[in-house]
Amino acid sequence: MSRGSNPGTTPIRTVTTVVIGAGHAGLAMSRCLADRAIDHVVLERGEVAHTWRTERWDSLRLLTPNWQSRLPGFRYNGGDPDGYRTMPEVIAFIEDYAKAISAPVQTHTTVTSVCSTEAGYLVRTDRGDWQCRAVVLASGACNIARVPAFANLLPPSIATLTAQQYRNPGQLADGGVLVVGASASGTQIAYEIHRSGRPVTLSVGEHIRAPRVYRGRDLEWWMDAAGVLDERYDQVDDIARARRVPSLQLAGTPDRSTLDLNALSKIGVKLAGRLAAIAGDGKAQFAGSLRNMCALSDLKMGRLLDLIDAWARTSGLDDTAEPPHRLPPTRVEDAPPLGMDLATGEIKTIVWAAGYRPDYSWLELPVLDRKGMVRHDGGVVASPGLYLMGTQFLRRRKSALIDGAGDDARELSAHLASYLDSRAARIVA
Ligand SMILES: Cc1cc2nc3c(=O)[nH]c(=O)nc-3n(C[C@H](O)[C@H](O)[C@H](O)COP(=O)(O)OP(=O)(O)OC[C@H]3O[C@@H](n4cnc5c(N)ncnc54)[C@H](O)[C@@H]3O)c2cc1C
Repeated sequence: MSRGSNPGTTPIRTVTTVVIGAGHAGLAMSRCLADRAIDHVVLERGEVAHTWRTERWDSLRLLTPNWQSRLPGFRYNGGDPDGYRTMPEVIAFIEDYAKAISAPVQTHTTVTSVCSTEAGYLVRTDRGDWQCRAVVLASGACNIARVPAFANLLPPSIATLTAQQYRNPGQLADGGVLVVGASASGTQIAYEIHRSGRPVTLSVGEHIRAPRVYRGRDLEWWMDAAGVLDERYDQVDDIARARRVPSLQLAGTPDRSTLDLNALSKIGVKLAGRLAAIAGDGKAQFAGSLRNMCALSDLKMGRLLDLIDAWARTSGLDDTAEPPHRLPPTRVEDAPPLGMDLATGEIKTIVWAAGYRPDYSWLELPVLDRKGMVRHDGGVVASPGLYLMGTQFLRRRKSALIDGAGDDARELSAHLASYLDSRAARIVA
């Protein structure tokens, strides 16, 4: 890194590559850049692992087992490989990684814009600017919780919070709660709130049901071993669709239980269809597709388990693993609610758990699609020297998982290195 001059203002520092974000993805890239002796800095608006510190609820545990957080040059070596990390453990794990690889992280530095220059890119921050030849966007895939536009029609008596703002049931008023979204976040939050004594209705959109343990092993073990998580972005028929698939309905509980809609209905959580609209009079309208959504989810789970069974047969594991089994179909009541009067005072709180999206509002480059997502080919962005990390199915099905960052960082750092070499060759010629 060196300091250049920018007359009249703070000096602009120069570095070959700026990595934006010190989550596990940015750190994995940092390690791979260091392996290639590529000079870089990692800019982080908070502390290392900032989002795990500030945007997760208290009781959350990873849904991936401890062994499944392999990062370049780093892995779990404790005594509970099949356990699921608590949030303090995730933070410690990522912090330890940053220390182990001596990542050049500059904390409390928010990137406010990235634009192109003749020399490459100018990265502006609230603590000075950086000139560089390459930029890696590792600022996270879950910066903003998805909240439907009609949320502003809610009666003012209803408190709302997103899964990022939710910490524990003690935050909520007594009374009914509507949780919107039934993937990993929504089901776990609905379970916890219901157990606190508040009646919960869960609005169910597209989701993917999954048993925690299958044939005696963690489902993630099967998906890893069978290569499901390694499926590449250029091997799937519809990558745009694959990138929108919600997270598996899994929870990392110490008793390794399956937290699906049947488990929630059994304890008294009421299921409704996808929240389709809120009318001006405060009436919530649920789609009539709950039964179809659940049938589709059961079907997808069945396909995944069929694939695992087929792999177990060809891999000689059929005899040693427990026999194949299937969960009973998701139970849906005969006439699930199609509406709910939110003005009666019965529902006191709504928790939005309908997914997340990244925030690239600071990216001043013509690389965003109309939904604000970066257009890229396996993490290689159309603007030369610009790379993306950590988003859903970036290069592989596992790309957004901690375990997925390693392979992506290795391949993208190789691409970045050859880009720098070809650029240097052009300048010399
Ligand atoms: C509720 C939840 C549960 C999850 N559970 C699991 C799980 O069990 N297992 C698993 O493997 N994965 C899990 N994930 C997915 C994934 O690991 C996380 O999304 C992870 O945080 C993504 O890592 P990342 O490094 O790409 O992004 P992040 O961890 O979000 O890191 C991005 C970093 O960039 C920083 N940043 C953002 N904007 C700027 C800016 N303008 N300037 C400077 N810095 C900036 C942020 O502060 C942050 O530290 C979960 C995600 C969520 C939301």
